[in-house]
Amino acid sequence: MRRLIAGNWKMNGLKSSLSEVSAVIEGLAGAHDEADILICPPATILSEMAERAKGSLLKIGGQYCHAKTSGAHTGDISAEMLAEAGATFVIVGHSERRADHGETDENVAAQASAAIAAGITPIICCGESLEQREAGRTNEIILGQLASSIPESAAGQPFVVAYEPIWAIGTGLTANPEQIGDVHDAIRGALAQRFGDQGKEIRILYGGSMKPTNASEILAVANVNGGLIGGASLKASDFLAIYTAAG
Ligand code: PEP
Repeated sequence: MRRLIAGNWKMNGLKSSLSEVSAVIEGLAGAHDEADILICPPATILSEMAERAKGSLLKIGGQYCHAKTSGAHTGDISAEMLAEAGATFVIVGHSERRADHGETDENVAAQASAAIAAGITPIICCGESLEQREAGRTNEIILGQLASSIPESAAGQPFVVAYEPIWAIGTGLTANPEQIGDVHDAIRGALAQRFGDQGKEIRILYGGSMKPTNASEILAVANVNGGLIGGASLKASDFLAIYTAAG
């Protein structure tokens, strides 16, 4: 399966950071086109980044979209707006949005549906807390989140799943290959059960302190089809090194 290396810049990036993107694009010039590579910047620099990325391997995505196409939703952004700005992917249901904005599985499913309707591929995130893991509830939590966060409208449409243990995001802690493999296998089984043959082809990304030094080991785990990378996506050389590990 073709892997996807996706960078989540979160609330980081001013126009001055576009030089980092140009460095990624330059680094990709001689790359073998063996995996997909994506950066999801803040919305303010998305369209300029998409302009720079035109004609390169780099794809651009959003970090969130509203469930509606337009309306009285101050401060929000629709999938249609992201698409017009040059996004072809959007992250939905990241644990930081679930925590900071109280987004529920139902909200996430509606956002993913809106993305699909706008022709953007949603990256639907799930992840357990440390308490849930220590209570032995990881797979139950993950499969429950996915059952409710993947909309019915995803059947037959492109979408991606990202497994991101909350305790591993931005902490420097990573789940070990056995823990990752266990969850990814469970996700693959659930996707195949729900979506049949399509479920066998859906990319499942791992996210949580992925970096150049651990990328190869994580990407070698069965049913890991790429990564969602926060901190290490901000530096072109680190992000390119992870992409190279995926090729
Ligand atoms: C993320 O933001 O999705 C993430 C995995 O962050 P980090 O790589 O910094 O842990």
